[in-house]
Amino acid sequence: MKLPVPNPHVSDLRPYEPGRPITDVAREHGLQPSQIAKLASNENPLGPSPRALQAIRDSLEHAHLYPDGAGIALREAIARTHGLTPDHVVLGCGSNEIIEFCYHAYTHPGQGRVLASAYAFAVYGLMARLFAVPFEEVPDRNFHHDLAGFAARLRDDVRLVFLASPNNPTGTRIPNAELTAFVEKFPAGPLLILDEAYHEFIPEPPPSVSWVKEGRPVVVLRTFSKVQGLAALRIGYGLARPEIAAVLQKSRQPFNTSAPAQVAALAGLADTDHVRKTVALTDAGRDRLHAFLKQHDLRFIPGTANYVMVEVGDGDAVFHALQKQGIIVRPLRSYRLPTWIRISIGTPEQMARLEKALPQLLPAKK
Ligand SMILES: *Cc1c(COP(=O)(O)O)cnc(C)c1O
Repeated sequence: MKLPVPNPHVSDLRPYEPGRPITDVAREHGLQPSQIAKLASNENPLGPSPRALQAIRDSLEHAHLYPDGAGIALREAIARTHGLTPDHVVLGCGSNEIIEFCYHAYTHPGQGRVLASAYAFAVYGLMARLFAVPFEEVPDRNFHHDLAGFAARLRDDVRLVFLASPNNPTGTRIPNAELTAFVEKFPAGPLLILDEAYHEFIPEPPPSVSWVKEGRPVVVLRTFSKVQGLAALRIGYGLARPEIAAVLQKSRQPFNTSAPAQVAALAGLADTDHVRKTVALTDAGRDRLHAFLKQHDLRFIPGTANYVMVEVGDGDAVFHALQKQGIIVRPLRSYRLPTWIRISIGTPEQMARLEKALPQLLPAKK
């Protein structure tokens, strides 16, 4: 039977490789889910804020009703925290969906170009292939974004420019002065997407919201998946000047974010204490991991968010061996970094397990 012919941009796509789910790994290795330490997807080991959990429970009573598609209560609260108005805020089913909106709204198949750094978050390039837009990787500088390299490639046909700071999987951030100079010289024409999924984890973050206020062609991406611990609910947002936000709004489905996600995000926003605790746990865990890696003479890229990239020799082998012991990390072969893994910061107990398991898996030093 002759099958319908799919769009090759879709059928030839190599899908995103997510961190392995706990239930899968538990089943495969005959472990209890509670024995698994998932250090693979930069999630919050403390879980969601208790206030967010209560809001989710309350919202389930109304699960028969469609959510407020425009998410006005949450957009108002987000706008208030940033000193903006709600017409600057676009909600997404994760901030990943805002990336997709940018492609929908600002690219045409086969035309123009999209720029992102080598070893940047995989979704930028994945979406370029899905939308059939030529994608150009800007070579990195020792796992840092090379903004001079970006500037040199900013010709007329560039539609979207993606910067991630802190970047995933490398964990490096763009220095504020460099980023500010780049934004101030950014030409008219392309859209700059500044992905700040880990914004809450970095000290002295850049004044990215002020660039939105100044009306620059910037979309700032934030998420509730990381510091807020709401990854399962899929909710994030973009901040942009109202004309840009309005176009992004048109590219979304009418009910793209769920009611439980909206109320959880709203409650989470108000729980600054939970954010503070999460950042403190992360800072301590990351310092400890850096010290451990130094002590074992391992090459690593000092992290600025809640994960660290480490060179271990054979990343896949170390990933599989750790998994057998109930520890899930992220191998980075799909990022063309087969000798590296990425380790998310977990609880002190989880980090202690990792410290015990990892040295036994490494090639002996000469
Ligand atoms: C985790 C992450 C996101 C957020 O994804 P969500 O869709 O909001 O869960 C966005 N960008 C980067 C770089 C990330 O690491």
